[in-house]
Amino acid sequence: MRAPQPFRRDGLPGRVTIYEVGPRDGLQNEAAALPTAVKAEFIRRLVDAGLSVVEATSFVRPEWVPQLADAAELLALVERADGVRYPVLVPNERGLDRALDAGVDEIAVFASATESFARRNLNRSVAESVAMFAPVVGRALGAGVRVRGYLSMCFGDPWEGDVAVAQVVAVGTRLLEMGCDELSLGDTIGVGTPGHVTALLDALGAAGAGPDRLAVHFHDTYGQALANTVAALQWGVTVVDASAGGIGGCPYAGSATGNLATEDLVWLLHGLGIDTGVDLDRLVDTSVWMAGHLGRPSPSRVVQALGAVAGRG
Ligand code: MG
Repeated sequence: MRAPQPFRRDGLPGRVTIYEVGPRDGLQNEAAALPTAVKAEFIRRLVDAGLSVVEATSFVRPEWVPQLADAAELLALVERADGVRYPVLVPNERGLDRALDAGVDEIAVFASATESFARRNLNRSVAESVAMFAPVVGRALGAGVRVRGYLSMCFGDPWEGDVAVAQVVAVGTRLLEMGCDELSLGDTIGVGTPGHVTALLDALGAAGAGPDRLAVHFHDTYGQALANTVAALQWGVTVVDASAGGIGGCPYAGSATGNLATEDLVWLLHGLGIDTGVDLDRLVDTSVWMAGHLGRPSPSRVVQALGAVAGRG
């Protein structure tokens, strides 16, 4: 058994764009800091496996994320393939300058839906952090650079507990009004469930945010990521974030399971007859290879199953 038997279901998109976050969101939350050449090969292998969007690295201050301190050196090593996007994370104008110097044509800024996480992650209130992003987004768009806005803690917050849908809508629509091309809704601690996903998307839709500008970023900490993905697809979302091999853990839950694994997502999508452009075998090979570098097995169920079938895991 190397692939799921496909069965189409009415009301789902024919194609989904997987926004691969392993080299950035994955590696920044792993204890091991990898050599720059290994990261470059990781990105190349992900692109070879058919991923068309690979978030490559982050231009946050190296003291904050030492695992990604080599952002400029890494981008210099990455040969850009035609038709593939290589966005990078940017926290502020200084980060934008560094990213532009490195020749990037797509960035992502990251805001929080909650005050607690904004304070901890950005050392600012939600309003202050949104104000900090405004010139970053404006300058990037002026330079012809595409901008994604990440919104964290959309479904729950480890310090505040429940997060009100209206609060997420208020911050999310601010990012879209600022000019972000796409808003990625993050379930940073993985507590959301499908009804919650639909309720949030309905509320965003009522506020004017259509499926063409929304993406979802689910974590599998509580085993809900794929169920939540189906709810988002039914609503019309066609961009789904995932991390190859499920790398990244969950820094706020102390769990080995964080980011939705790209392989698990691909199995679901291909089973629903949804085109992704991804070669699952190549992707699994890459995650098994990366697990060797990280010194721990991939938490992805599909990597474990297919890796075992092939005698690789
Ligand atoms: Mg994540």
